[in-house]
Amino acid sequence: MTDQDLHAGLIGAQGSRRDLNTPVLVIDRPALERNIARMAAFAAEKGAKLRPHAKTHKSVDIAKLQIAAGAVGLCCAKIGEAEILADGGVTTGLLITSPVVSAPAIARLVALNGRTTDLMTVVDHPANVAALGAAANAAGKALRVIIDLDPGIHRTGVASPEAAVALMQAIKAQPSLIYAGLQCYCGMQQHIEGFADRKANLEDRGAYIRSVIDALTAAGGPPPIVSGSGTGSHRIDAELGIFTEFQVGSYVFMDGQYLVCDIAGDGADQSPYEAALLIDARVVSANTPGMVTVDAGFKALSTDAEPPTVLGGAPDGSRYFFMGDEHGAVLPPSGTTPPSLGERVILGAPHCDPTVNLYDTYHVVDGDTLVALWPVSARGRSR
Ligand code: PLP
Ligand code: MN
Repeated sequence: MTDQDLHAGLIGAQGSRRDLNTPVLVIDRPALERNIARMAAFAAEKGAKLRPHAKTHKSVDIAKLQIAAGAVGLCCAKIGEAEILADGGVTTGLLITSPVVSAPAIARLVALNGRTTDLMTVVDHPANVAALGAAANAAGKALRVIIDLDPGIHRTGVASPEAAVALMQAIKAQPSLIYAGLQCYCGMQQHIEGFADRKANLEDRGAYIRSVIDALTAAGGPPPIVSGSGTGSHRIDAELGIFTEFQVGSYVFMDGQYLVCDIAGDGADQSPYEAALLIDARVVSANTPGMVTVDAGFKALSTDAEPPTVLGGAPDGSRYFFMGDEHGAVLPPSGTTPPSLGERVILGAPHCDPTVNLYDTYHVVDGDTLVALWPVSARGRSR
């Protein structure tokens, strides 16, 4: 708590969570640590490596906790995230999971390759392979590349086993590229709420991924790394045994979208991972019977998912409704008393990744005590 300029006025005199100015992005540190440890133990038990996705947290501090728990490196959505992690000292095993295509981004990629170890990026087109090969050649250091496979949503990735084989051959033909493996992220399947339905979908995709691995192997290019999986699918993927490593992201924080998912398939009410990312808001107006207005709206919470759940500071069963850029309504169940003016209300993140990207700083708490301030270091680094 020494950065007076950044944090002046944000921290209460006692370092108490209750005194924080709001809205504020809060990490429950014990819950975060339990989530990291649980995923690490699960992967170790299943013999899979972990290369967690930094798109979720954009944080050097959390990346280092994941590495300390055994992660082999970090995934990044864009080159900008990878640069920030490298600047912060995470310089080994970064994998960029979306194609790097623009000329300025490729220039930055080969520069980053020069100051890191085992940097990897995905490719899904022969023209991009040629461009990366030329840039790596000019820079004088070989670059590791992974074939991105489209699981069927047509976002990124090669669209057939034949296209994967042709791309593998194109990579091998480039003297400055190293063929490092295959990636397939089944994004659509992650949030299927019912376990059996999710499992059936993933088995189907798994058979397809296996057919691509077989085609690559038959053509002389068995993929050394097969990377994929997410928070919603890793329990199922572990049984399918296709991936050598998991690129799970959201499990560190969880969010409204994932907390309604039966991730473990054991029917338990409790998810194996806990809500560790919270938004503390405050009642700023209380003039209408049956509702209060809090200071967190579109600028404090992602809006692509269901509205946030009310986790504390208001009667059980209270619901949140967006009221615009700066405000939300909290409605307690009828017959209960809403919080008073100035009281704090704790909201669960609706969708963790885009919520995090709205803040500069995590306020890290243990119980009611503020224990650290962590920058959202890669905030806005979407290119
Ligand atoms: N890999 C890729 C390519 C992703 O896009 C994402 C999330 O969107 C992840 C991994 C992490 O998945 P999850 O947050 O479901 O764990
Ligand atoms: Mn997400």
